[in-house]
Amino acid sequence: MRLDAAMNLEIGNAAISLDGCGRTNCFVSHAHSDHVAALRSKDRNILASDETLALAGYSGRIAPLSCDGVKLRLLNSGHILGSRQLRAELDGESFVYTGDFKLQDSLTMKGAEVEPCDTLLIESTYGSPEMVFPERDFVYSCMARWIKRNLDIGAIVVLGGYSIGKAQELVKLANEYLGMAPVVESSIERACRVYEKFGVKLDRIPVKTDEAGSVMQGSFLAVTTPHAASRDFCKNLESLYKRKVACAVASGWALRYAYSADRAFPLSDHADFNQLIEYAERSSPKKIYCTHGETVRLASELRRRGCNAHALSKDSQMILTDFGEGD
Ligand SMILES: [Zn+2]
Repeated sequence: MRLDAAMNLEIGNAAISLDGCGRTNCFVSHAHSDHVAALRSKDRNILASDETLALAGYSGRIAPLSCDGVKLRLLNSGHILGSRQLRAELDGESFVYTGDFKLQDSLTMKGAEVEPCDTLLIESTYGSPEMVFPERDFVYSCMARWIKRNLDIGAIVVLGGYSIGKAQELVKLANEYLGMAPVVESSIERACRVYEKFGVKLDRIPVKTDEAGSVMQGSFLAVTTPHAASRDFCKNLESLYKRKVACAVASGWALRYAYSADRAFPLSDHADFNQLIEYAERSSPKKIYCTHGETVRLASELRRRGCNAHALSKDSQMILTDFGEGD
């Protein structure tokens, strides 16, 4: 097996592009836009979950990926609906690519499965030791209290999160912690329909419907994209609705950056630093490659813990690296 810096895995006589489109065989880990290039490319053999294809709006014919003698399996990655890790095995040698993942269960997802492997390619978005999130239930409770406090004083509350994944979790939070259905914008509604098709019940009110028109006469809760949950945007809403508008963003980056919002809650669909280390320890690979995000930092932290870890960067001039060999 070989892996190159552009995330192409050569295995036996085959090659698989991991969340890219550089080879004929392409694995698509999940439906976020920076991972679906293969679905926009012609003549590719695709390996992806049905949920990912539905969320990406892919309606073309799928040519299934084929690799002679290679055992391929998809494992839940706990990131968004349909997100998967790829496990490949040939001649007793195993490889896992995590894609984006988290270990915690959320209101809409089970946490990632972890299986032992010889070589691990792990995402490193929050690969720095200061990026450690509070318990998810605690964040949910804090958010619910803040929303309720603002609704009780007659305000409009706007919550911002990525339209696929985070927004559906925010809808579920409103359903389960507050017993209410939020108004959702159109791109979020499209993804909510796919979630429901695959069994995740989401009680919400799509914007531009009669029901939304009536609910929006008073104090209400809206789930939007992060852009609309900014102070500037909400100032316009305040003059339009003649009410106070409170806005909050839900993102793991709340730990590091200031948002132009009244609150930022550290709620992420990625593993935090502790989960990245836990994953590496539980899968006990002989070799680890870190990709996406703080790769250099995570690789160095893993090496300090005795792992054989390296950063994989598209910007680097690294060429094909043989598994099982030295540095
Ligand atoms: Zn993602």
